[in-house]
Amino acid sequence: MADIVTIGEVLVEIMAEHVGQRFDEPGRWLGPYPSGAPAILADQAARCGARVALIGCVGDDPFGQLNRDRLLLSGVDVTALIDVPVTTGCAFVTYRGDGGRDFVYHIANSAAGALRRDHVRPTMVDGCRWFHVMGSSLVSDEVGEAILHALALARRSGARLSLDPNARKELLGRPGAREMLDRLVAEADLLLASEEDLEHLAPGRDEASAVERLLRGRATQVVVKRGARGCASYVSGEAVIEQAAFTVDEIDPTGAGDCFGGTFLARLLDGCPTADGLRDAAAAGAMAVRERGPMQGNTTSGDIAAFIAQAEGR
Ligand code: ATP
Ligand code: MG
Repeated sequence: MADIVTIGEVLVEIMAEHVGQRFDEPGRWLGPYPSGAPAILADQAARCGARVALIGCVGDDPFGQLNRDRLLLSGVDVTALIDVPVTTGCAFVTYRGDGGRDFVYHIANSAAGALRRDHVRPTMVDGCRWFHVMGSSLVSDEVGEAILHALALARRSGARLSLDPNARKELLGRPGAREMLDRLVAEADLLLASEEDLEHLAPGRDEASAVERLLRGRATQVVVKRGARGCASYVSGEAVIEQAAFTVDEIDPTGAGDCFGGTFLARLLDGCPTADGLRDAAAAGAMAVRERGPMQGNTTSGDIAAFIAQAEGR
């Protein structure tokens, strides 16, 4: 039984070696690294001591094995990580000079895209307290239906929905994706959104009014991730809790938000006050960006405590 269950894409990531490197000309690439937003979150939450399970599909190939080995090492329950006769998904990433990133995804027609409603069994979400979904996982109607089915089963166990919209222009442009994301937003109890996600969900609004709109729905808490400018937590009728970013040299931003989310959920399960959860999650996010590779910078609770003590000069 896991307290956190997440679902969706398990991928390898292959990244450009240099900023400014392009997809439409040959270059040097680094990887494969274990990846996939739900997998990164699960890996981090498990490292922070939470009981976590991941529902998803990988191919019976070395990329699938790379992920399986990594998740097992971190203590993630991979009983619901299903081998399918399709190649494991992958994501290629390049870095723009302005700090932005572009992706080429091989997900919908990969093992990650083979996840179906029939794969999801009630036992996979038994006892789950937080069911976590990434918007990036909505790669097809069929995968979306599998996710909604798992959510319905998790609700029967009394789980709350944590949603990271993780809006990726490359993935959410397909017909139906936006509607499915909106449906999940309406069902979420906790939203873990980046500034780009807020712009996607409530275009043209400033942060406070975008969040205010989200809090009119079911969600009781919205956490906004602001990259190198830290994060904030909003709860209706309460003062906003701000957390500054920890100062680090950013090597690779990919996965910071997922690592942040995994830490935050693990802390909620520990019964931590929001401010402490935000601080630990921000520290974990900062530590994550110091390493190349989406989960190479993931950390344990001990690593996070030591990092914070050092940052605070204790
Ligand atoms: P992704 O979707 O790429 O995983 P995200 O956009 O969801 O990321 P970010 O805001 O990039 O999430 O990162 C999450 C948190 O990690 C931030 O709120 C911040 O606390 C921390 N963080 C991210 N980048 C940095 C950085 N360069 N320096 C310090 N802290 C950072
Ligand atoms: Mg994100």
